[in-house]
Amino acid sequence: MKRQDWRNPRKANGMDAEQNPLFDGADLAKATSDPAARAEALRREIEHHSYQYYALDAPTISDAAFDSLMRELREIEAAHPELVTASSPTQRVGGYVGEQFAPVVHERRMYSLDNAMDLDELDEWMERTAEACGGALPPLCCELKIDGSSIALTYEDGVLVRAATRGDGTTGEDVTVNMRTVRDVPLRLRDEARAAIAPGVETLELRGEVYMPKKSFEALNAAAEEEGRAPFANPRNAAAGSLRQKDPAVTKMRDLSTFMYAIADDAALEVEGQWELLQWRRKAGFHVNPDVRLCTTAEEVRGFCRECLDRRESLPYEIDGVVVKVNDFARQRAMGFTARAPRWAIAFKFPPEEKTTLLRDITVQVGRTGALTPVAELTPVVVAGSTVARATLHNLDEVHRKDVRVGDTVIVRKAGDVIPEVLGPVLSLRSPEARIWEMPSVCPSCGSPVVRDPGEVAFRCISIDCPAQALERLLHWASRGALDIDGMGEEIVSRLVESGRVADVADYYSLSEEELASLDMGRVKADGEPVRLGHTVAKKLVAAIEASKGRTFARVLFGLGIRHVGKTTAEAIAAAYPSMDALSAAGEDELAGIYGVGPKVAHGMWLFFRTPDNTSVIERLRAAGVTMADEAVAVGEEVPQVLAGLTFVLTGTLAHSGMTRDEAGARLKAMGAKVSGSVSKKTSFVVAGENAGSKYDKAVALDVPVLDEAQLLNLLETGEVPREI
Ligand code: NAD
Repeated sequence: MKRQDWRNPRKANGMDAEQNPLFDGADLAKATSDPAARAEALRREIEHHSYQYYALDAPTISDAAFDSLMRELREIEAAHPELVTASSPTQRVGGYVGEQFAPVVHERRMYSLDNAMDLDELDEWMERTAEACGGALPPLCCELKIDGSSIALTYEDGVLVRAATRGDGTTGEDVTVNMRTVRDVPLRLRDEARAAIAPGVETLELRGEVYMPKKSFEALNAAAEEEGRAPFANPRNAAAGSLRQKDPAVTKMRDLSTFMYAIADDAALEVEGQWELLQWRRKAGFHVNPDVRLCTTAEEVRGFCRECLDRRESLPYEIDGVVVKVNDFARQRAMGFTARAPRWAIAFKFPPEEKTTLLRDITVQVGRTGALTPVAELTPVVVAGSTVARATLHNLDEVHRKDVRVGDTVIVRKAGDVIPEVLGPVLSLRSPEARIWEMPSVCPSCGSPVVRDPGEVAFRCISIDCPAQALERLLHWASRGALDIDGMGEEIVSRLVESGRVADVADYYSLSEEELASLDMGRVKADGEPVRLGHTVAKKLVAAIEASKGRTFARVLFGLGIRHVGKTTAEAIAAAYPSMDALSAAGEDELAGIYGVGPKVAHGMWLFFRTPDNTSVIERLRAAGVTMADEAVAVGEEVPQVLAGLTFVLTGTLAHSGMTRDEAGARLKAMGAKVSGSVSKKTSFVVAGENAGSKYDKAVALDVPVLDEAQLLNLLETGEVPREI
């Protein structure tokens, strides 16, 4: 998903830095020692950003940065209550009422929500709530916090008569004509919902969120870029902007949706609480989010929050947290509201997925195939709930493309389980000392000269004696996807390599419990004695080594670390040649004929079996009892369909691997992908080799991600789809 570029304030939404008080020497810094001045400076700053955000739908800083300004102001006001003013943003619902639409005065105010920034703050709120409810935690209704724009829909005699934005909470904007175009908004309530309406009530006001699904947002921004317009920063601003269009036909095209979650006056319906209301809304014909849970314990609430955080990326719309509400309406009434939010609800905000931190250094990691990978060494920072201290920078081209320099303040992103990545530098904070980084000319592990294969992005150490490569090969063999030797981690393997006891993967199988137990861990105890691995761990390791002998033949093949043979390719090969003897005897052409294997992989494999060092390792593995044939893997068994649902278009010549487009296509299909001859918006990826033609141009025009040959090979090898190109 495209995001706003926060790194360079001049670029954000075409806004010039001079217009933005953050960057024109605002007295924020001067005011730090004087709380009154600091609070005032923060208020001005927050008001400026609220205007950008609510009125122009074009924020110039990230929500996380905005929230931290708000938080600081709240903290100052808590410590100095005399500084609180009625117009402080902490005392108001943030919002804006434009002149383009008729104003609507809300009969009942629309509120914002208070935030819990982590589970501890959520616990504190639950404790306060339990106290307010006589000591016991009342049932709590937990819902997704949809990242859209608040909307109020008024029905008279069951017919939609008005739609209004939240505005400043007291007055909103009349957007009825536009909301009528939103497909899931019922223009008339369904008859079966009428029975629950309290006697004499003719007007019902339902409240909820109007949002833009991720797919529509991506399409909208792709079109904006094509037409040279500034893209929206996020789906929330896009939804708010689409709702406030002069022409309802434009709103209609924007493909908005709603989730309704509240009623303005709960006495208008004969329902007792939020959960029951939810059932009624569904009956009435509203689009109601199914991801709700009625919880009775704090642990259940925390569990729901964790689950939602895990599922966040997979939802078709953006959420930025979970809203926890006291379920019972009578209790809600008793707890009431503060100036800006209900006391009976709290928004648990997901940890920000982007943070800024210092890039202290760039080091180089040597992989098992000798590839040198630049790694960002960061000042540790908590991103999306976990501490990030290192992040891969992939290769030298990437370092230069992103223009990250040692000493830069960089933006680090981590979403869910995804590996952390450095998005880029904050240019306005670059110090003159920031240093451009270059790849070292010798391997940092063994000092051999580093080479770059023509046409490849990776630099490589080609020494066979490189200890870093040996270490990586040994770790790869023991890793979970390969032979899965539980407990054989980096520290132990490094000590085994350094002690000279283990040099290749076959050496694992001659280790005794005694030897392992006495392994010197390179540290000393208080009494000066060396720390040794000890019998408990050694015993477990010996058992894990023994267990690894029985893994499948495909895993053994993968574990050997043959170049270009990733997990999926190993499975395809093992399906065709389910024994080491058959495989090592196969000719290069035969290997290339395996469904899903190209000439480059075939050549690498053929060579592997003709290298005496390798065959001797294989013989020693055989002698140790490691699987050499896999009867269970039937010939022709299917490769895992990791690319199911994706459509690829191939163009140009795949010059480096020597694969034809048909061969590459066959391998993609073997992994479940569809391969098409023409590019459309539905194309997931275009693979562009050399001399790619009009299909490449079309991909760029439609914003379809383009993979180069190296990325294609990586995909075929690992089965991992690049997340962001
Ligand atoms: P909010 O969005 O944090 O929370 C309140 C809103 O949540 C409600 O009004 C409602 O519309 C919505 N909501 C979604 N799902 C809900 C559910 N299931 N139940 C109840 N409500 C639900 O508060 P806010 O005051 O609308 O806006 C503040 C947010 O806007 C912050 O995240 C802030 O970072 C952002 N902001 C950013 C900038 C910027 O410059 N980047 C400027 C201003 C505001």
